[in-house]
Amino acid sequence: MAARTLRIGLIPGDGIGKEVIPAGRRILEALPASLKLKFEFVDLKAGFETFEQTGAALPDKTVEILKNECDGALFGAVSSPSKAVKGYSSPIVALRKRLDLYANVRPVKSVMTAKNPIDMVIVRENTEDLYVKEERTYEAADGSKIAEAIKRISEKASFRIATMAGEIALRRQKIRESGAPSIHKSPMVTITHKSNVLSQTDGLFRATAREALAASKFSSVGVEEQIVDSMVYKLFRQPETYDVIVAPNLYGDILSDGAAALVGSLGLVPSANVGEGFAIGEPCHGSAPDIMGKNIANPIATLRSVALMLEFLNEETAAAKIYAAVDGNLEAGKLLSPDLGGTATTTEVVEDILRRL
Ligand code: ATP
Ligand code: MG
Repeated sequence: MAARTLRIGLIPGDGIGKEVIPAGRRILEALPASLKLKFEFVDLKAGFETFEQTGAALPDKTVEILKNECDGALFGAVSSPSKAVKGYSSPIVALRKRLDLYANVRPVKSVMTAKNPIDMVIVRENTEDLYVKEERTYEAADGSKIAEAIKRISEKASFRIATMAGEIALRRQKIRESGAPSIHKSPMVTITHKSNVLSQTDGLFRATAREALAASKFSSVGVEEQIVDSMVYKLFRQPETYDVIVAPNLYGDILSDGAAALVGSLGLVPSANVGEGFAIGEPCHGSAPDIMGKNIANPIATLRSVALMLEFLNEETAAAKIYAAVDGNLEAGKLLSPDLGGTATTTEVVEDILRRL
């Protein structure tokens, strides 16, 4: 078999993004040769520092290179200025739009040796709902202000996100059957909505997701649905019951940050922004200015984001190796970064994981 070469864009961004993205590159370079995978890297700019230097938080060149030359990318973090800065808006939000990365995928997993292990993934629709940002403010008859926002749900976007959730459920099942330890026995997708109140918007999401998941290729996938408020309750009481959760944009945003709290540190939680044939791995944490420059940022969220990106590039074996090396480090519990109660530096954690690889 000829080796496959993947070209990966590296966008460190700001703060600890600059410390964790190099770790992502190192783990790709350290994958065993038997996988017949080669990587080429392209250093790309985006973020607040880039904005200050060039006037653009997301230079067109970055988008063009990603679009025309790369198979995938890793994105570190960007710092959000504490007050609005004229002309600045989040480059990752813009990037999702310009590359049509319509899904935000966030696995939340503990080690399987934890007392109450959890292993779920939240699949959040990423292009519409309240995030179309069509807001207006006007005056009531008495002169007081009223503000409103559009919540837009389309059949197309709902169908493709639910289809992706079904595909992820099948892939997770395949990985389990290949021997990866898990708490789930069979694939399940939970559709999240509030259609008891929003019968048209969330009603459309719910009905379309059901329809998408009724496809024969998903016949082995269980489908259930849950109203978002009761879901939050159950997510915290019985997180182990969830396998794949699919949600419209806003609920997905809230659920995924909430679920991240279940595993102890933001430094552990990866994500991927996914479109047709393209994925950007992105740790869930921000630029963490309070710890930057100290070599103590936990690199695991980034290393897991690398693995997640590889999953979407159909390199599941490589992904599984990275997940296992990370779990090995966590289960041994000897070289942990300070956010997990340890004293190891970023470099020491990365080196321990590379050894296990
Ligand atoms: P931003 O504006 O970029 O989001 P922030 O100040 O909100 O920055 P976050 O990155 O969101 O910071 O982090 C919130 C808290 O979690 C901070 O105290 C930070 O130090 C900690 N944290 C985040 N990521 C990591 C990591 N990888 N390792 C260790 N601690 C982290
Ligand atoms: Mg933050």
